[in-house]
Amino acid sequence: MNANILQTPIDYLKGVGPNRADLLRKELGIHTYQDLVNFFPNRYLDKTRFYKINELQRNSAEVQVVGKITHIRSVDQKRGKRLVADFIDDTGKMELVWFRGQKWIRENLKINTPYVIFGKINWFNGLFSMPHPEMELVEEYKKQLRTAMQPIYPSTEKLAKSGITNRVINKLMQQLFIETKGKFYDTLSEEITTELKLIPKAEAVFNIHFPQSQELLAKAQFRLKFEELFYIQLQLLIKNMLQKQKIKGFVFEEIGQNFSEFYSNHLPFELTGAQKRVIKEIRADLGSGAQMNRLLQGDVGSGKTIVALMSMFIALDNGFQACLMAPTEILAIQHYNGLVELCKDLDTSIYLLTGSSKTKARREIHEKLENGEIDILIGTHALLEDKVKFKNLGLAVIDEQHRFGVAQRARLWRKNQMPPHILVMTATPIPRTLAMSLYGDLDISVIDELPPGRKPIKTVHRYDSNRLKVFAFIKDEIKKGRQVYVVYPLIQESEKMDYKDLMDGYESIAREFPNEQISIVHGQMKSDAKDYEMDRFVRGETQIMVATTVIEVGVNVPNASVMIIESAERFGLSQLHQLRGRVGRGAEQSFCILMTGHKLSNDSKTRLETMTATNDGFEIAEVDLKLRGPGDIMGTQQSGVLNLKIADIVKDNEILKLARHHAMRILKEDPSLSLEKNKVLRFTYAQLAKHKNIWNYIS
Ligand code: ADP
Ligand code: MG
Repeated sequence: MNANILQTPIDYLKGVGPNRADLLRKELGIHTYQDLVNFFPNRYLDKTRFYKINELQRNSAEVQVVGKITHIRSVDQKRGKRLVADFIDDTGKMELVWFRGQKWIRENLKINTPYVIFGKINWFNGLFSMPHPEMELVEEYKKQLRTAMQPIYPSTEKLAKSGITNRVINKLMQQLFIETKGKFYDTLSEEITTELKLIPKAEAVFNIHFPQSQELLAKAQFRLKFEELFYIQLQLLIKNMLQKQKIKGFVFEEIGQNFSEFYSNHLPFELTGAQKRVIKEIRADLGSGAQMNRLLQGDVGSGKTIVALMSMFIALDNGFQACLMAPTEILAIQHYNGLVELCKDLDTSIYLLTGSSKTKARREIHEKLENGEIDILIGTHALLEDKVKFKNLGLAVIDEQHRFGVAQRARLWRKNQMPPHILVMTATPIPRTLAMSLYGDLDISVIDELPPGRKPIKTVHRYDSNRLKVFAFIKDEIKKGRQVYVVYPLIQESEKMDYKDLMDGYESIAREFPNEQISIVHGQMKSDAKDYEMDRFVRGETQIMVATTVIEVGVNVPNASVMIIESAERFGLSQLHQLRGRVGRGAEQSFCILMTGHKLSNDSKTRLETMTATNDGFEIAEVDLKLRGPGDIMGTQQSGVLNLKIADIVKDNEILKLARHHAMRILKEDPSLSLEKNKVLRFTYAQLAKHKNIWNYIS
């Protein structure tokens, strides 16, 4: 009965009218009672604990303190005034600060009378301060009944504006527990709950929304996080199992003429050990009879392209075609030119197809593709169009995969009777545990070695006030024949201002370098204008490239030796690392200069310090993961990738491992979950799959 009640549309809950139902659906994806139960607070205001002032930590969030105001004063600031009160307890002193409502506050605050204050704290000049604290006289505080742990639910601007406040969500949650009588059947087997000493589902759900104590809240969180991660792992492992069994792949047994001829006579350099190892892994996959789904990770400049080419040769040697898909037109063209050059002494037929290919060329390509005259097709998303039909696609290589979703990968499959082998390449290093949870269906190869002779890029941090020295340095480099990138941030919300910064920057550079040719590329330009400018830089006709982050991915100009990143504090770590990867591609010593103002947040400082300390993409990824959490790690395109309701892949890494361990153990013993003791698991898993929840995690 209870299972059914949970599928009731949210409109039926008392207190939810059509308007609210609509908002809940659109803004929070809450369609049913079940969805509301699974809408978890993202934090709690902990009012169980009182802090002494000398116990406050610089990274404390909200804190509650008892003390007295000894003195109030107005302080002039840039705009207007702020009101500051000295607040003391028997261990020390802090400040309370107000920017709004100063008159009222000043008139109503009592000096030398005990208050309970609550709020966020800042640390500045050796003193803690709390802006706009919640305050209550101790005398009043004692009279009232209160819940100690107050849940705070995630919200959106729209919800807040429409009056669905935290308090309203809280009310709805209460109503939900009344209507369902708080009965929630267990969703994990007794074997697991006993072994891990987990509290029952109903108790966990109740305490997550209405924590009765710190301890019960912790138990509730553990139980629900474990459950969430457990079912994801179960799903990934089952999918993986099915794939290994069912999805047959073409067997590429031959290592034939293309591969051998290229390897023996046309390799422009000795492969690195890592490249050789990865090619071996791919060869083994391609010959195994199962479809390959491999993720190739390799830092910028580690030489993924040649690995892709040699893999494609294996497909050709077995009578199949191959394709290489890139996220942007510029990259596709660069790949095309690069591969044509590498294959110039072979009779491999390579074609390029992008959004701007002309109708006539397009028709020719469609035809040649279908009759097998094309060996390798390189392009953008255009390759995914229905009209593009291969005679026999054997291998699809996808570069910079974070721009392509799983759904798009699947579209490639539909082009064939049998799915082609898939090689996904990425320069965004993903720490292994994260990769495992994100891409449980992919095998992973890593190129962890740079080609020999590369000089590590020298990275420095400079303040805007040192700009003249930086300009002088650029002049020297240009005199030596090098080229220079100057990159500006472009963030959607402040697009206009960013655009202005870019233009101002361009003008000041033009003034400073009257004798040099300067390219400029930004998002508001038409794509052929962009290509033209990019091209001039690639050919060395311009010495300086001023650009927004459009040049981030993959561009290869070995003669460019300096990367200046303006307002570097506004970039994320992985973005900085990607940008830096644009230089250091030739034999010359390269430099990356991170420009910032003097005011920097702690996170920005960490990012800048990390960048100047290391060139290692994996190390950087780990720091990035810690700073940002996994949601952001692949950039905004992927923020929805791991849509977890309660667990956090980074912070809950130990629980993740535990969940994976148990999922594996159970599947090993009972691959189809048909044992009586696993009935609950089978049922819950089927429910999740039916209601699609589980697929939302990975898409
Ligand atoms: P990425 O992994 O960033 O795609 P590329 O495949 O573009 O890297 O390679 C970067 C540069 O290094 C290219 O100019 C390529 O020719 C060169 N390269 C790749 N492998 C080697 C190697 N084993 N030895 C020397 N140079 C190499
Ligand atoms: Mg590349």
